[in-house]
Amino acid sequence: MILVSNIAMNVQAVRERIAAAARVAGRRPEEITLIAVTKTRSVAEIQAALAAGVTDLGENRVQELQAKVPAVGPGPRWHLIGSLQTNKARPALTLAHLIHSLDRPGLAEEVNRLARQAGRPAECLVQVNVAGEASKHGIAPAGLFAFLEVVAALGWIQVRGLMTIAPVAADPETVRPVFARLRELAERAAGLGLPRVEMRYLSMGMSGDFVAAIAEGANLVRIGTAIFGERPPKGMG
Ligand SMILES: *Cc1c(COP(=O)(O)O)cnc(C)c1O
Repeated sequence: MILVSNIAMNVQAVRERIAAAARVAGRRPEEITLIAVTKTRSVAEIQAALAAGVTDLGENRVQELQAKVPAVGPGPRWHLIGSLQTNKARPALTLAHLIHSLDRPGLAEEVNRLARQAGRPAECLVQVNVAGEASKHGIAPAGLFAFLEVVAALGWIQVRGLMTIAPVAADPETVRPVFARLRELAERAAGLGLPRVEMRYLSMGMSGDFVAAIAEGANLVRIGTAIFGERPPKGMG
């Protein structure tokens, strides 16, 4: 059982750690948006985070977005941070302010088609599998620029930046090169000058590694456990 008062304290503590990491990196804390990751969490837990000043929420499954967006009500910005099946693109576009997981041409084509139909550009980050882990989604770094060219040519996708998930590491400093690589890729992608492709956001850093990600330029950090406590093991909740 998670106590709502702990959630408020945890949000405060995470904010302080974000601010400290920003200062160490010579950055302004306000540049960094905290996305509270609410997968498996109840509406009451989410409300506690919102009451503590959280403005942005992240879900990794469309089904959970469909249940929680109406239950939580207006106010927060929702981010889809998990991999997206093509047949779930329509509800994802309706419910999420930003999709962090654009990672393949077939998905891009469907997102583009739906955005054109709706008359509203789809705001997306491109997910990059920087570390090349077989278990992770994302486009390989070597394919990123070609993929951005394909997306830019479609016309209805607004690329706002890049996202990555670093490998799990006991010492987050060991994955710092993964974050540095995403920043370098974003710098080079910005230099391509493609239409509707900007590199405003770097979505990187989770509970275990957000300090290292901020040191390398993250401005969207996705944090679940450090706010809400441990999730039940997979398959048990
Ligand atoms: C679950 C999840 C997070 C948050 O992970 P924590 O370790 O609980 O902070 C961040 N990003 C993605 C894509 C996730 O699925």
